[in-house]
Amino acid sequence: MTPPDGGLVPEDPPPREACGVFGVWAPGEDVAKLAYYGLYALQHRGQESAGIAVSDGNRIMVHKEMGLVAQVFDEPALTALRGHIAVGHCRYSTTGASTWANAQPTFRFTPAVSVALGHNGNLINTRELAALLGDSGQGQGPGGIAATSDTDVLTALFVSDRVPSGSPADAPGGVEDAAAAVLPLAKGAYSLVFMDEQTLYAARDPHGFRPLVLGRLDGGWVVASETAALDIVGAAFVREIEPGELVCINGRGVRSRTFAAPQPSGCLFEYVYLARPDTTISGRGVHATRVAVGRRLAAEHPAEADLVIPVPESGTPAAIGFAEASGIPFGQGLVKNSYVGRTFIQPSQTIRERGIKLKLNPLRDAIAGRRLVVVDDSIVRGNTQRALVAMLREAGAAQVHVRVASSPVTWPCFYGIDFATRAELIAGHLSPAEICASIGADSLGYVSLEGLTEASGLPASRLCRACFDGQYPIPVADDDRGKHVLDGLGVGS
Ligand code: SF4
Repeated sequence: MTPPDGGLVPEDPPPREACGVFGVWAPGEDVAKLAYYGLYALQHRGQESAGIAVSDGNRIMVHKEMGLVAQVFDEPALTALRGHIAVGHCRYSTTGASTWANAQPTFRFTPAVSVALGHNGNLINTRELAALLGDSGQGQGPGGIAATSDTDVLTALFVSDRVPSGSPADAPGGVEDAAAAVLPLAKGAYSLVFMDEQTLYAARDPHGFRPLVLGRLDGGWVVASETAALDIVGAAFVREIEPGELVCINGRGVRSRTFAAPQPSGCLFEYVYLARPDTTISGRGVHATRVAVGRRLAAEHPAEADLVIPVPESGTPAAIGFAEASGIPFGQGLVKNSYVGRTFIQPSQTIRERGIKLKLNPLRDAIAGRRLVVVDDSIVRGNTQRALVAMLREAGAAQVHVRVASSPVTWPCFYGIDFATRAELIAGHLSPAEICASIGADSLGYVSLEGLTEASGLPASRLCRACFDGQYPIPVADDDRGKHVLDGLGVGS
């Protein structure tokens, strides 16, 4: 079914990744600039705010602001951040609370110690944790400052003396013991990079939902959400931070402790869309995984067509795989403006009505009269694909066969990815055949969940696949399954 406006409907927002984190311990290096470039490589993971905290061993300075990394920092701002430890963060809010107060790194202190923290993920028991801080349960932290997000609650707990059987951060065990006591109480997804005046820390929740890797610099160490961020600062990949692991890095070297038994369930959607293609997760390149998914898609859902085109950029590797396996030529049929989606200038109504054309424009010469296979990474609400199919037909395509390099997204994510509610997810209430009719395609094929899992190289038992199959690694109450985030204070990170 083609919409009467010829497809010029506003496109869906893409699935929104919750954040990128980066940490560096490197005496003698300009750590603020290393953090800047690390965040620059992680910009795709969060584009609403950015921040860097730096310690010189005696005090921590934080600079954070709304906007892209390159908008938030300039040369003078980075020059002012002097020290040998840095924590950086770029953020999407998962509940719409896109304010400066929720930008990260968060910062909390006692007279004896300060903590700056960046978080990728989403906690699902924030109110419970906030109640530990006392008062109204809204998470009054030290100094009576109300906590504004799950991340802020966690940071406040790290320096609080109110955690039952906890160890205050100003006790001899310091922030390390405090964190080791608090982290087992947190439920949900968290890949954390944090620091006090002397030490850089990294921690990953027992499920390891979100990625986190350790890298080595000449004379220093780096922790980052993705291996691509190690590459940009010239750090060599060492290993992944393990689920349930807390790593401490300072002048005494790198120490590791396990604060909870690991139950690995890494996010399968990182392979589909979230991670950069030049990142490696669990030893498998994301690009190679996406190409393999495309090959599998061609086997599972072949098509009679003249040309395979990707929806750029994220559909490109799977389109390459589809073309390889099917023998149908690969080509570009859509041109993407990579920058327009992140402008802070609100489009006028006339521009807004152009919908998808703000971002994608067809190459008429390449597609006119052709039977197309169009490979996209995923379908969330379906509005984008409906507009896309209409746009390709308008540009002269003879047929449009949509192939999707993920399984149907049928359930919301509670672990840091903002898809939509179940009611908004088109596959939550329509079958593939109905979705095909709804978006107006000649045919539609999704890769099977088995095929997608196999391409990742990991067994299903080590993955979270909940947005595809509803099997949440941390159980979600039936009443909450239709929501898209849990917990009123759970402003995600
Ligand atoms: S529900 Fe989906 S997006 Fe969320 S962590 Fe699991 S696999 Fe990833």
